[in-house]
Amino acid sequence: MSTFSITGLEEHEAALRAAVFENSGVEGAAYVLFREAHIAADPWDRRRHTKLLVREIIPIAPVSASGMHVTWDTASYVALLQRAQREELIIGIAHSHPNGPDAFSGQDDANETELLRTACNRNGITAKLVSVLFTGDGTVLARVWQYPQHQTMVRSVMFIGERILFHHRGAAPASAAFARQVLAFGPALIHQLKNLRVGVIGAGGTGSATAPLLARAGAGQILIVDDDIVETTNLNRLHGATQADADAMRPKAEVVAREIARMALGARVLPLRGWVSAPEVRDALKACDVIFCCTDDHAGRVFLNRLAYYYLVPVFDMGLAMAVATPPAIGMADISARVTTVMPPEACLLCRGAVDIEIAREEDLRRQQPAEYERRKREAYVRGEGNPNPAVVTFTTEVACMAVNELLNRIVGFRKRNMGFEIRRRFLFSEDRATTAKPRHSCPVCGSRDAWGLGDIDPFLDIVG
Ligand SMILES: [Zn+2]
Ligand SMILES: [Zn+2]
Repeated sequence: MSTFSITGLEEHEAALRAAVFENSGVEGAAYVLFREAHIAADPWDRRRHTKLLVREIIPIAPVSASGMHVTWDTASYVALLQRAQREELIIGIAHSHPNGPDAFSGQDDANETELLRTACNRNGITAKLVSVLFTGDGTVLARVWQYPQHQTMVRSVMFIGERILFHHRGAAPASAAFARQVLAFGPALIHQLKNLRVGVIGAGGTGSATAPLLARAGAGQILIVDDDIVETTNLNRLHGATQADADAMRPKAEVVAREIARMALGARVLPLRGWVSAPEVRDALKACDVIFCCTDDHAGRVFLNRLAYYYLVPVFDMGLAMAVATPPAIGMADISARVTTVMPPEACLLCRGAVDIEIAREEDLRRQQPAEYERRKREAYVRGEGNPNPAVVTFTTEVACMAVNELLNRIVGFRKRNMGFEIRRRFLFSEDRATTAKPRHSCPVCGSRDAWGLGDIDPFLDIVG
């Protein structure tokens, strides 16, 4: 049996609430159309998991409705079943209980059994029906129906945007370790972080700071992906790493995981040595609710940029620029950090000019066909890696703090001023700026709704080759 979760956008949540609470005190309803993302084995609980990704909300005009019931003409449902089969969509019904109960009712069971039967008759016994319930106190519950009358409660319902709303079933476990953080942001944040599945891509200067910060803030499930080993030249900024790790050529991901395990704060941490776009990493990435992009390469960013839109996984992308002045000038020409929250409907990293597609291609070539890459480098068809960039631990760590705070702000909303989806910190001037960008109309990632929440397609992420 699969476990289930639901992810949608802030605008989907708003459209749903508008439809199900249209008339005060009266039940309302809407259809929700989902695409699916299948995870063969969740990296933390090893169970099969299906992510239901919201594609569209269709309000339902009720035939009759009161404080205790809502009914509508099922002809629209039958028509949607046809479309669902054609476009490989799962149909959901959302309704409200403005006056309680705060759970699905016996009447809901009876209605949904009937709707599942109709779906199976029309589209075959593999058809599913999702039911989403908005209770009077604002909680969102959901369950999935499958033949023959199996119902599975959905593990979590998440809506992403300016704020990240994460509804997870179950009570918050109290731990004295987080008492002082609870004083600031309350117990709900700990409960949400405990249940969130967080990916950290890259375990270098920023990644080795980001992952332990997440664990200390209470994140319960952390994935660390990196294909590199510890080297002596990393030790100035790699949190937790020692010369012994460099001598033993230990993978960076394992060193960071070891440091988190030593905290014993309850985080289940999973190090994966591999390249972010490798097929064996795919399931783990799809299983993440949010991802921190701590790589300094362009190819990894281009890949995660797509993942954010296709799978509705917010990606907190970090960039750090340190440039030494060209002689005869002396000192630093620039020290600035950037945290971009990548998700629909905002502009993607390509449209923000944060990645260079040409450099990404060269990086892919270097990794996949090293001999060919060297040949082109000799003939000056590719630019080559150039000199290593300067790196100072205080700045790599500060950009990690900025990114983790970005997640915390989206969950609890502590900021008095909306900084949008990209913050730039200019260290030379001690200032923060919000930068804005618009999606390019022609962008295949963010330019239209086609890719948003499309989930599993072949080829993966529509990447050919
Ligand atoms: Zn009901
Ligand atoms: Zn774009």
